[in-house]
Amino acid sequence: MTERIYNFSSGPAVLPVTVLEQARDEMLSYRGSGMSIMEMSHRSDRFGEVLATAEDGLRRLLDVAQDYRILFLQGGASLQFSMVPMNFLHGGSADYIVTGAWGLKAVHAATKFGNPSIVYSGEADGFRTVPSQDELSFAPDAKYLHYTSNETIDGIEFKYDVEGSVPVVCDASSNILSKQIEIEKYDLIYAGAQKNIGPSGVCVVIVRDSLLERATDGLPALLDYRTFARNASMPNTPNTWGIYIISLVCDWLEDLGGVAAIEKLNREKAKILYDYIDSSDGYYRGHAKREARSLMNVTFRLPSEELEDRFCSEASAAGLDGLKGHRSVGGIRASIYNAFPREGVEHLVEFMKDFSAKNG
Ligand code: PMP
Repeated sequence: MTERIYNFSSGPAVLPVTVLEQARDEMLSYRGSGMSIMEMSHRSDRFGEVLATAEDGLRRLLDVAQDYRILFLQGGASLQFSMVPMNFLHGGSADYIVTGAWGLKAVHAATKFGNPSIVYSGEADGFRTVPSQDELSFAPDAKYLHYTSNETIDGIEFKYDVEGSVPVVCDASSNILSKQIEIEKYDLIYAGAQKNIGPSGVCVVIVRDSLLERATDGLPALLDYRTFARNASMPNTPNTWGIYIISLVCDWLEDLGGVAAIEKLNREKAKILYDYIDSSDGYYRGHAKREARSLMNVTFRLPSEELEDRFCSEASAAGLDGLKGHRSVGGIRASIYNAFPREGVEHLVEFMKDFSAKNG
């Protein structure tokens, strides 16, 4: 058996071992076809079944009603920063809640297509928290409101589904499928696949039909959501391999008991780490305020940058990889997505105890 490490990478991130094993077993001949899924026409019946399995899996796992389309796009979540305003801003205004680096990027992209207005920003405070629903108010003429349910870099997460009187658009790249959400509170949710859904190269978009009807006419076909909705995500060649892995990840998650079951495991994993950080007498300092702590990306600091560097390199040598914080903020970030095993978190805590004892 090949040695696997504990991979705390923020994305592309750890995938379930059974998914990787199945992909390996089906690599040379996908279910008796004599070829790999990567070599197969996207117009074939077999691939049609794979796409339907991925879509149905996501629909069941997230309890998505029939008046929503589930689309598989390319261009990452970053393209959504532009596609959302391109399709729905129409030169008007939209309200953006900015709780971290990705939300800020979304605002910048939107300025090319209209007037995004920042209704909440956590920037002055170093992106440590999220607003409560009561603190938020939205302009009645806003075309939509946009927020990031989990800020991957800062480790900040909303604990509720934001509601508004205008369509709600959410970047859920780093916490989709990690906990139960009420889909009907959203009009469009998008997520790059490479954290909780599958490999990079696919972006899942879940969009309500009534919002699709408001899309701007005259856009280039591949930048218009309706093109993907009308053509079952295949106006052109999709990322067939990525969609195949998504179908396997959905099967894996359903076998495990679905989103409610993984949410319980995710809460346990995150608690182990946050509890230890809180009990470390300030040696490890969590970045996020308690009420906004992410279940997926646990961000913390050590007493000095030099210690942080040493921490990362020694952890890596001990088989705990990918712990370096994003280059823009530094510090440590442990990404513990759905497929990350609980024992990896326990190993990390043991390593942290040892490290602080030696370097206190
Ligand atoms: N939004 C969030 C919350 C992210 O974490 C990321 C990537 N880490 C992005 C957007 C950008 O995704 P992509 O690289 O797929 O464009």
